[in-house]
Amino acid sequence: MLYVISQFAAEMFLQIFAVLSTWTMPIEMLTIVHTFVKLMCMSVNWLFVDMNSYFASVEQHDDPELRGRPVAIAPVMADNTSCLAASYEAKRFGIKTGTKLWEARQLCPEIRIVLARVKRYVQVHHQIVAAVHSIVPVDKTHSIDEMSCRLTTYQREINVATRLGHEIKAAIATQVGPFLKCSIGIAPNRYLAKVATDLQKPDGFTLLTLDDLPHRLIGLKLRDFPGIGARMELRLQRAGIFTVQQMYNCSESQLERVWGGIEGRRWFWKIRGHHIAEPETHRGSFGQSHVLPPDLRHDLGCKGILIKLIAKAARRLRMDNFWAKSLSIKVNGLAGPRWEKTVHLPPTQETSTFLEVFARMWEDRDQDTTANPIKVSMVLSDVSNQKSTPASLLPQDRKRNEATRLMDQINERFGRDMLYPAAMHETRHAAPARIAFNTIPDAREFDGSPKNFFTTQ
Ligand SMILES: [Mg+2]
Repeated sequence: MLYVISQFAAEMFLQIFAVLSTWTMPIEMLTIVHTFVKLMCMSVNWLFVDMNSYFASVEQHDDPELRGRPVAIAPVMADNTSCLAASYEAKRFGIKTGTKLWEARQLCPEIRIVLARVKRYVQVHHQIVAAVHSIVPVDKTHSIDEMSCRLTTYQREINVATRLGHEIKAAIATQVGPFLKCSIGIAPNRYLAKVATDLQKPDGFTLLTLDDLPHRLIGLKLRDFPGIGARMELRLQRAGIFTVQQMYNCSESQLERVWGGIEGRRWFWKIRGHHIAEPETHRGSFGQSHVLPPDLRHDLGCKGILIKLIAKAARRLRMDNFWAKSLSIKVNGLAGPRWEKTVHLPPTQETSTFLEVFARMWEDRDQDTTANPIKVSMVLSDVSNQKSTPASLLPQDRKRNEATRLMDQINERFGRDMLYPAAMHETRHAAPARIAFNTIPDAREFDGSPKNFFTTQ
């Protein structure tokens, strides 16, 4: 708020003194005021750290054999699966996140494909956060490879901010490892600091001030702005906006029309470096999907994995103290979704209740639809927290709740999956914790079981 006021005041001063300068203001006075105003405009407030080719860099950090080579990270060793990440050496061959493994092998026959080790990536993530934190306090971690820091008082001065950026790079290199490179963006607001990280990769450093706007961003594509995806790009194009320059030329109300609401106004100010409070996100669902490894691409494998995913999602639901009122299941074949179903139920967080509901859904399915599955997904949604969920008074519910809590405690103490539903027995080692790019998996997801697929190899 203060910042917005100061920016507004700065702009007002500029206007007023532009008029006064044609009048009788002593030139020294004008210069002093103008320098002051300029300094205010030139200060920066946010520093964003984005690790480059993060998963591949961790593998190269751990294994000297992989350094300087094209490396791709895969969730499972199946030709038809997509790369989770690619090293910069692999990117030169056109391999990127999402490239199918068979295609990656075609593009670069000598590529080294490494199975993802999520537990290790989480460990290194915490080391990186600590290294950054030793220079500037980390305000927020946005994903496993992104974090931002708020610059305060003297840190907002450009020379100081620049020095801090370089110190962060050095801290990561010495405290974690020199093969973990990052791009650093510094800007008047957090959003533009993130945009700035994309201007130079790998090992980049970009500082944007209000003076640099918008001309230093004009060369970007609309899709380079986080928040503009394929659908938003289409809406912008329908409104005649094809370039970043055209987007900057739009008025606040024009953007409001394109976005179809207040978000357009927020966008107008955001891309101009103003601090706009981010709306609070409410937890809406707990879900997971899993690409089946080739040996589980059948009816039973599909069922087993779904049971495991439901058990994991229900555990996360309990850890975060939420209750869910619906369970959705989806099974995909090669040609897309084959079976989809949602069932509503009274608010619950019990694994056993979800599994009973799932068993009934499974019984009712058309068996053809789950014969050649490739991917399964499940979501627990319509979630509410403790305050808005009345506790069940039925004795059998209370008993069930106590049993689940006890099971959670035992698993927490002696290792994940020490106790698990009998239905999960066949697939208990399959479907290891996967990584979503916008969340850092909870370390508890990985604790315990030495048979865990992702224990350090
Ligand atoms: Mg990154």
